[in-house]
Amino acid sequence: MDARHAPGEPRLLISRAALRHNVRVLRRKLRPGVRICAIVKADAYGMGAPTIVDALTNFVDDDHHHIGRTVDEFAVATIDEAAALGHVGLPTLILRPVENAFVGRERTRLEHAIRAGWALTICSRLAAEDVARIAVATGRRANVQVLVDTGMTRGGAVPIDVDDLLMKIESLASLRLTGVFSHFAHGEVDNHAQTRHQTETFQLTTDAHAARHGARFTRHMSNSGGVFFTDAQFDMVRPGIALYGIDPTCRPSMDRALRPVMKWLAPLVDVRDVPQGTAVGYNGTWIAPRDTRVGLVPVGYADGYPRALSGKGITLVGGRRAPVIGRVSMDLITIDLTEAPNAVIGDDVTLIDSDPLSPASIYEVARLADTIPYEVMCRIGSRVRRVAVDPVDETDRTPRIERTRH
Ligand SMILES: *Cc1c(COP(=O)(O)O)cnc(C)c1O
Repeated sequence: MDARHAPGEPRLLISRAALRHNVRVLRRKLRPGVRICAIVKADAYGMGAPTIVDALTNFVDDDHHHIGRTVDEFAVATIDEAAALGHVGLPTLILRPVENAFVGRERTRLEHAIRAGWALTICSRLAAEDVARIAVATGRRANVQVLVDTGMTRGGAVPIDVDDLLMKIESLASLRLTGVFSHFAHGEVDNHAQTRHQTETFQLTTDAHAARHGARFTRHMSNSGGVFFTDAQFDMVRPGIALYGIDPTCRPSMDRALRPVMKWLAPLVDVRDVPQGTAVGYNGTWIAPRDTRVGLVPVGYADGYPRALSGKGITLVGGRRAPVIGRVSMDLITIDLTEAPNAVIGDDVTLIDSDPLSPASIYEVARLADTIPYEVMCRIGSRVRRVAVDPVDETDRTPRIERTRH
C-alpha cells in the first residue's frame, strides 16, 4: 500500500527501509553465522505482523533487485499469533510454554502447531509427554524447544531439572528438540552482574547436552538489549524492539543509530477559533487563556493514544508543535494550532514521529505516559491502519523540526 494513496485516515506508516536498516545494525553486532530470530509477537509490537513479516522476507532493494530475506526465524507468543502470520517459510517458535494443566483445552491448537511444524516451548516433563502424545496422534514429529530459567524467575525449567528434561525429550521419538533458550532480566542494562551470571548458568546448564548431541539444537538467549550489551550470542539472537528501531534502553542513542520504523499520522478533521475563556473537552480541564485556534484529530485512547497525555502530549502539524489540550477522549483529541496557524482540515497531524529526537517521538510519548515505548506501541489500536511505505514515499515532505533534546 502506498502512503500517498491513503490520506485522510489515521494510519501507521511502517518504513520498510528503516526496518532493514535496523536489521543491518543488529547484524553488524553478530559473529558470522549467528542467526536472527525476529520477534513478531503481539502483532509485531503493534506494528502489524503481516506487514513486518512481509518486509523482512520478501524485499526488493532500492535498485529493484529482489534480495530475499533478512532474518532467519520468527517467534510469536501464541499459536494463534503464528497462525495469523500465514505462510512465512521460515522456522517459527511459539514462546509461551505449553502448560500441562491446559493441554486439554489447547489440544486443537497444539495439533495445528505440530502439523505446521512450529516449535513449541516446553518447561516440564509432563508438558513434554503431553506434546509427544498429541504428536503421535497427529502422525507428525513435534518440534520443541526448552525454556530455561536462569534467573528471571518468570517461567521456565530451573537449571537442576534441565538435563532430566532434555533426556526425556530425547527418549520420546515423536519429539524433535530444535532449541534451548533463556531470557535476560536486565538485558537492556550495560554490563549487569546478573546478566553475566545468567549467561554462565545457561552455558553450564546446556553445555553437556550440546556436547552429547553435537549441538544439533540451537541455543539462544539475547533479546535486543542482549545483542548490544552482552556477547551471549550462542547460535541465535531474538531481537524485538530494536528491529522496530527503538533503543532497548528506552532512550534514543546515537551510538546505535536505530531508526524507528513507525510514524503515526491522522488528519485534522476540524479547525475552529475559540475565544478566550472557552472550555475545551471533558470537564473543561483546559480553558483558552487567549483566543485560540483549536484542531480536532480523530484518534483517542481507544486507538492507543494514552489518556495520560491529556494536556501534556505534543503533536506536530506541518513540523510545528501542536500541544494536546484538554482531555484525551476515547476517539478524539483536541490540539492547539497557535504555532501552526495555516493548518487546514485534511492536513496530517503527527501523533508519533519517526524522528527519535522529535518532541513527538515514541520516547517522549512513553515518558509523558509514564511507561515504556514497548507498551505504547503494543496498544496502538486496530482502527489505525498499518501502511508499509518504501523509501520513495518517505522523502520528507514534512518540514524537519528543530533537533533539540528534551
Ligand atoms: C519479547 C521477547 C524478546 C524480544 O525482546 P526485545 O527486548 O523486544 O528485544 C526476546 N525473547 C523473548 C523470550 C521475549 O519474550
